Amino acid sequence: MNIAVSSHSRSSLAQLSHFIDGRFVAAGRPVFENRNPATGGLVNLVAEADAGVVDDAVKAARRALKGPWGRMSAPERAAILRKVADGIMRHFDDFLTAEVLDTGKPVGLASHIDIPRGAANFNVFADQVVSLSTESFHLPTPDGTGALNYALRVPRGVIAVVCPWNLPLLLMTWKVAPALACGNAVVVKPSEETPTTATLLGEIMNEAGVPPGVYNVVHGYGPDSAGEYLTRHPGVDGITFTGETRTGTAIMKAAADGVRPVSLELGGKNAALVFADCDLDKAIEGTMRSVFANCGQVCLGTERVYVERSIFEAFVGRLKSGAESLRMGDPFDKATTLGPLISREHRDKVTTYYAKAAAEGATVVTGGGQARLGGPHDHGFFVQPTIWTGLPETSAVVREEIFGPCCHIAPFDDEDAAIEAANDSPYGLATSIWTENLSRAHRVAGRIDVGIAWVNSWFLRDLRTPFGGSKQSGIGREGGVHSMEFYTELRNVCVKL
Ligand code: NAD
Repeated sequence: MNIAVSSHSRSSLAQLSHFIDGRFVAAGRPVFENRNPATGGLVNLVAEADAGVVDDAVKAARRALKGPWGRMSAPERAAILRKVADGIMRHFDDFLTAEVLDTGKPVGLASHIDIPRGAANFNVFADQVVSLSTESFHLPTPDGTGALNYALRVPRGVIAVVCPWNLPLLLMTWKVAPALACGNAVVVKPSEETPTTATLLGEIMNEAGVPPGVYNVVHGYGPDSAGEYLTRHPGVDGITFTGETRTGTAIMKAAADGVRPVSLELGGKNAALVFADCDLDKAIEGTMRSVFANCGQVCLGTERVYVERSIFEAFVGRLKSGAESLRMGDPFDKATTLGPLISREHRDKVTTYYAKAAAEGATVVTGGGQARLGGPHDHGFFVQPTIWTGLPETSAVVREEIFGPCCHIAPFDDEDAAIEAANDSPYGLATSIWTENLSRAHRVAGRIDVGIAWVNSWFLRDLRTPFGGSKQSGIGREGGVHSMEFYTELRNVCVKL
C-alpha cells in the first residue's frame, strides 16, 4: 500500500483527499488547485492520484466484493442506499455550497436539480433492484423429464465511474447508485474541475453503513493521470463514462484491453423543432431553459433551433428578450439566473466560437462576447447569452458542440426539411419538438435519430426510462432496468429434472 501521507475519517474541504477503503487519504502527486468559476478564487487544493493510488483504490474495491457487501441481499443493499439518499438530504446545505463553489451554477438551479436528484438517484435504484426479474425456460428432454433454465443476475465486479463537471453530483450518483444497488463496488474519478461533492459523499457512505471499499474516489486529470490509470487498470471489470465524445473514444480503446464493457454518455448538438402550430409561450419557456440553463453546459441542451418560417421573426424576437432578461451575477444570490462557464479554458473555447460565428457572417441577435460584471466577478468566466441567425448549416458553429449559453436559429418551410436538418449531425442525443398537433408530434419524434425525444418539454426526466445517445452521442442506455442490465451479468442455470 502506498497510502501513507494521511488518513482520516472526515473530509477537509480546504484540502481534498482521495477516499479509499472508507478513509480519506492524501497521497500521490503534488496537489492541484480547484478554482471557483464565478471569481477565479481558490476553492481548495486537491490530491492527485498516481498509478499506485489508483491501484490501491481498485484493490480496496475488489476486497470489498469479497466482504459483507458481496454477501448482502438486494433488499439489504437497497436499505443502505436509502440511508445514503437521506444522508445527502440531511447534509443538503454542505452539498449545495460545495456544488455552487465548484461549478459557479446558480444556487436556485443546484438546490432544485443537482442536490435533490443526487439523492433521488439512490432511492430510485433502491426501488428498482428489489423488483428485478429474470427469465426462465422449461426445456423438454428426450427422457421426458425436462430441464429448467433460469437466469441469475450477478454484479459485474469493480466498476470505474468517470464523470464530467457539468452536473457533478447528479451524473455521478446516476451511475454509482445503480452500480451499488446491483452489488458492485465502484472507483469514481470525478472531474478535476468539480472534485468536492464526490469527496463529501464518502462521509455519507460511511454514515449510512456502506462497507469500506465499496465506494472509492480518486482525484486527478484524464490522460496520464487518474482517469487513464483507472480506465486502463486490469482490475476494473466495467467502465461507465459521461463526457466528451473524444474522451469516450480514448476510454473505449482502453476498455478493449481485457474486453471490458463500456457505457458511454457523450456529447451532443441537439436540435429543437418549433412548428407554427405550437403553443409559443411554452416553446419560448422551454427553449429558454434548454439553451441557457446551467449556462448552456447541459449535454441535453439545445444549440440548434429550427423554427417554421411563419413564426420565425416572432420566435427570434421573444427568445432575444428572454436572453436579455437573464441575470448574471453571484451564484449564491437567488436572483441570479445565469452563472459563469466552468473554467478559463472553456470560456476561451466558447468565445472562439463566438468570434467564428461573427467571422462567418452570422447575424448576432444578442450577445456575442465575454461579460464583464465588475467586482470579484470580473475574474470569473462569464460570457453573454448569445443568439445567432443566418449561418449556413455547414458552419462549424452549427455543427460542433459548443457547450455554452448560445444557439443558432434557422427557419424551415416543411416538416421533412426540419427533420432532415435535425438529423444532419454526427450526434444524436436529444431533441425537443414543439407542436400542438398530436399526430405530428408522434410522427416527428419517431423520425429524429436521437436517444431522447421530448414533445412540448425539455429535461422532463422519468428515471425509469432509457437514457442515452445515438450515433456519436454514446453507446448503451442507462436508467431503470437498462442500468441494471449494464451493472449486472446474467448467469444461466440449467437444471436437469
Ligand atoms: P471530458 O470528456 O473532458 O471529461 C470527463 C471526464 O473524463 C473527466 O473526469 C476527465 O478527467 C476524464 N478524462 C479525460 N480524458 C480522459 C482519458 N483519456 N481517460 C480517462 N479519463 C479521461 O468531458 P467534460 O468536459 O468534463 O464534460 C463535458 C462533456 O460531457 C460534453 O461533451 C457533454 O456533452 C458531455 N456530457 C454528456 C452527457 C450525456 O449524458 N450524454 C451528460 C453530461 C455531459
